[in-house]
Amino acid sequence: DKVRNAVKKLKPYVPGKSKEEIARSYGVDPKHIIKLGSNENPWGASPKIKDEIIKELDKLHQYPEPINPKLMEELSKFLNVGEENIIVGGDGADEVIDVIFKTFVDRGDEVVIPIPTFTQYRVSASIYDAKIVWARYDKENEFKLDVDSVLNNISNRTKVVFLCSPNNPTGNIIDNKDIEKIIKETDALVVVDHAYIEYSQRKYDWTEKAPKFDNVIVLRTFSKVFGLAGMRVGYGVANEEIINYLMRVKPIFSLTRLSQVCAITALRDRDFFEKCVKEGIKSREMLYNGLKKFKDIKVYPSEANYLLVELKTMKSREFCEELLKRGVIVRDCSSFDGLGDNYVRISIGTFEEIKRFLNILK
Ligand code: PMP
Repeated sequence: DKVRNAVKKLKPYVPGKSKEEIARSYGVDPKHIIKLGSNENPWGASPKIKDEIIKELDKLHQYPEPINPKLMEELSKFLNVGEENIIVGGDGADEVIDVIFKTFVDRGDEVVIPIPTFTQYRVSASIYDAKIVWARYDKENEFKLDVDSVLNNISNRTKVVFLCSPNNPTGNIIDNKDIEKIIKETDALVVVDHAYIEYSQRKYDWTEKAPKFDNVIVLRTFSKVFGLAGMRVGYGVANEEIINYLMRVKPIFSLTRLSQVCAITALRDRDFFEKCVKEGIKSREMLYNGLKKFKDIKVYPSEANYLLVELKTMKSREFCEELLKRGVIVRDCSSFDGLGDNYVRISIGTFEEIKRFLNILK
């Protein structure tokens, strides 16, 4: 019954397409495909990871450590929070979202989700049979969070409020004062999703502040700037009590040996990290300036590694299909709740990829 109910309510979640899938469908070489569809790091992961993975291969018959002390130490240094304030998920930040539901949300409880935003929140809510109460990011105001729409929808049944900053797919951050207001006016757990925070400015970063509150968890990931989407490592930062509850529920061995090695090595290669942040922001600017020149497209400003565009004369499905035929993957946003059928999200690429993409678009 639970699954049947969830399926009834659930619009299918269509994640971005892979290069392999497009290559199969269109009979082209995956090497020629430009993927700007899933907000990945076009420069990949730290080149130092390969050797470390090879060393680990001899140990694959042994279970991983549920809590890897080297990883916790590196993360704690990187984030400037205590090790007791961190939970690392083995299916990315998605796993932490799932564990939050498992831990804190009972059937029939309410969760507040402003839209348009990251689809996984409502997917998990449907699976756990929570009641979704929609709030909104205001389309008329460059998708700024409508704080009142959140506050007015919080009730004594609300268990979790999802705030995404920078927001996926709109790219804008949420003001500190707005987040603070929501945290202070509710006892519900406020999830501040910072999957893309590295591309933004530090003044909007709640990671260090989260452990000081008793109802905040920040989500972050290795899938974006660290270039490890394929390894599935994400983490949450909160006060020790919240982390302890979540750790009781999280599958104990979900973080594999290889994932641990990748994450540790990525954190130690700070030069590569800094380069990816800098070049990622440059790529975003190049993409923004290029897209601005098309009069049939409105480009929204972004603090993430993607840009949301509104098409004035074309539907997103047709636009994406035409680009696919030419070997470019971008994200059709029509499956996002709260957006129409003329929005597309375009991720950063290497400078060469952006140049080629803009030419194809012309
Ligand atoms: N939060 C947001 C806002 C995202 O866009 C994503 C990835 N699409 C995630 C969380 C999940 O990231 P992960 O790959 O770590 O599961």
